[in-house]
Amino acid sequence: MKVGVLGAGTMGHGIAQVAAMAGHDVTLRDIEEEFVENGIESVEANLQGGVERDKVTEEEKAAALDRISGTTDLETAVGDAALVVEAVPEEMDIKRATFADVEELVSPETVIASNTSSLSLTEIASALSDPTRAIGLHFFNPVHIMKLVEVVVPEQADDGTVEFAAEFVEDIDKVAVEVRDSPGFASSRLGVALGVEAIRMLQEGVASPRDIDAAMELGYNHPMGPIELGDVVGLDVRLDILEHLREELGERFRPPQILRQKVRAGKLGKKTGEGFYVWEDGEIAGVSGGDGE
Ligand code: NAD
Repeated sequence: MKVGVLGAGTMGHGIAQVAAMAGHDVTLRDIEEEFVENGIESVEANLQGGVERDKVTEEEKAAALDRISGTTDLETAVGDAALVVEAVPEEMDIKRATFADVEELVSPETVIASNTSSLSLTEIASALSDPTRAIGLHFFNPVHIMKLVEVVVPEQADDGTVEFAAEFVEDIDKVAVEVRDSPGFASSRLGVALGVEAIRMLQEGVASPRDIDAAMELGYNHPMGPIELGDVVGLDVRLDILEHLREELGERFRPPQILRQKVRAGKLGKKTGEGFYVWEDGEIAGVSGGDGE
């Protein structure tokens, strides 16, 4: 099957990778040539990591890379796709415009999916003249590692679209959970609730980032603590999601001031080299502002 992936950032390149590994022909689209190239390089680096850990053979790596092409042209990306997955920035206007533009270029059978982490799928779907073909495919970061995909069902979706999405998820060797479209779905709502409380604890000086993370890792068996996870997801992404959940679900999701300050300072986490932690070569190298030693 031909899959068009829009946005070659953190999520888009991962979605392209898992679709290509499952044998699909993928076209990855971003707005600048440089972003497309970076996305494809990230896929190559992930696959190389897989080869080094004996999870992927050299042949599988080469075949997957062969199945991914990059473009900045929307029509080339989606024209003959059976499935389009958008992973563009988390803003309603951009999502709706993307959906509407895609619908103009695809066949009536093409399923159009959004990887939004928190926006209303029902509202995104209503940008289409045929909203029954819209669905949420909420992947998790890093896409090539995380097993879960939330299949988010908008008010307008028909059974065929839901079934198609669930089959695609199975086909790419992930596990689907079906969630009715509601703010934060199942995972973001619970995950962000934990993350925001952890940031409030930092703000109140209850404990250090390392100790908060160790508490959840060692006390609750979370593979990664909530402060580190925020840095990995991106603090700008976290802030956007919080703003949205606060609007929909109330003050318990109000973004703490220190989170706003980080974003204003461009300290967005792992991707910029500093968030609540300092990052070097993709690893935590210290705590932002020092470990207090
Ligand atoms: P990102 O900023 O890393 O990547 C977004 C990319 O989209 C950028 O490269 C940007 O240039 C590109 N872009 C902007 N407008 C575009 C357009 N019209 N067409 C094609 N590309 C366009 O963002 P991300 O973290 O990959 O997030 C993308 C989506 O995935 C968001 O909706 C986000 O909420 C969701 N999501 C993110 C995570 C995460 O952990 N980062 C997890 C799950 C879901």
